[in-house]
Amino acid sequence: MILVINAGSSSIKYKLFKAENLKVVFSGIIQEIKNHHKAFEDLKDTFMQKSIDFSQIKAIGHRVVHGGDKFSKPTLITDEVIQILKSLIPLAPLHNRANIEGIYAAKSIAKDIEHIAVFDTAFHQSMPQYSYRYPIGDDVYSSLHVRKYGFHGTSHQYITNEASKLLDIGVHELNLISFHIGNGVSACAIKEGKSIDTSMGMTPLDGLMMGTRSGSIDPAIITYLMREGEYSIDEIDRLLNKNSGLLAIGKDSDMRNLLASETEEAKLAIEMFTYRLKKQLGAYLAILGRVDAVIFTGGIGENSKEIRELTCKGLENFALKTIVIKTDEELQIALHVKEILNRV
Ligand code: ADP
Repeated sequence: MILVINAGSSSIKYKLFKAENLKVVFSGIIQEIKNHHKAFEDLKDTFMQKSIDFSQIKAIGHRVVHGGDKFSKPTLITDEVIQILKSLIPLAPLHNRANIEGIYAAKSIAKDIEHIAVFDTAFHQSMPQYSYRYPIGDDVYSSLHVRKYGFHGTSHQYITNEASKLLDIGVHELNLISFHIGNGVSACAIKEGKSIDTSMGMTPLDGLMMGTRSGSIDPAIITYLMREGEYSIDEIDRLLNKNSGLLAIGKDSDMRNLLASETEEAKLAIEMFTYRLKKQLGAYLAILGRVDAVIFTGGIGENSKEIRELTCKGLENFALKTIVIKTDEELQIALHVKEILNRV
């Protein structure tokens, strides 16, 4: 069996797969965790109650949010890898710290098996420099690692492989625009199977309008708010990450509620949301030239025909093929783990 772990700061999601055919055996979430170690002890107990033999687990795949520019593929976790992961904490303090605690806890209860890190950023490491660099001081790039990394990479990669099967086009010939639209939203331009640009940036705050995140705004707004509105750094963080996006405009971050609502503010939120998606689509059409399909995934992308139609409305002349694919990041992680197990 292969266990996939997504360790956050307050919860741990897990999914257990049969190693032979990657069928799901069992999955769940441990909420409101106090410490990761105790949570893994609880998980072991839960497995025992379900008569699942923990010793049958061959390997654990850990979702790690930020791999910086150090990891471009899934990686066997050694002590050296943990040291590198620690050095990346400043790039995603909340996420990576929790991911590392999850790795330590899992390693302490499952010592003799392989642990493999799968990074949200890895798929985007193929972006060319002219795409991932920001046109600001060279020193902030070299000393503080300020550049675009991109996220949702595991999802965009899964989508690419699934689209390749559906369209019967080899991955290395496939050009796609992939929209992952959930609470977090990102687009990816995929050329010959590789990410060449993505809308999220150095952090997952950049790019498209999201449930509670602003996406791209004029960067000078931040200094203006600090100077004129006397906002602190924490207040700006909260404003842009937790109190912006659909929530700020439509007064609700849940797309289902906004689509069902008759209010002007809900209408505006949907107009802004889809206007930005359409602009992104146009930009990626321009850089790709030929697009085999536009893929929609994530809670909104998979379920809302209305959002998909509003995004593509007016682009009929481009004869775009649009496809809905249900994403499965845990399965993609399990696939990576299986591939590595076959090699070691
Ligand atoms: P996360 O990014 O947290 O994984 P999801 O991918 O589950 O989130 O997406 C959550 C979003 O999907 C919410 O805004 C929710 O309203 C939206 N959603 C789920 N089902 C539907 C639906 N049938 N129609 C429109 N939006 C939907």
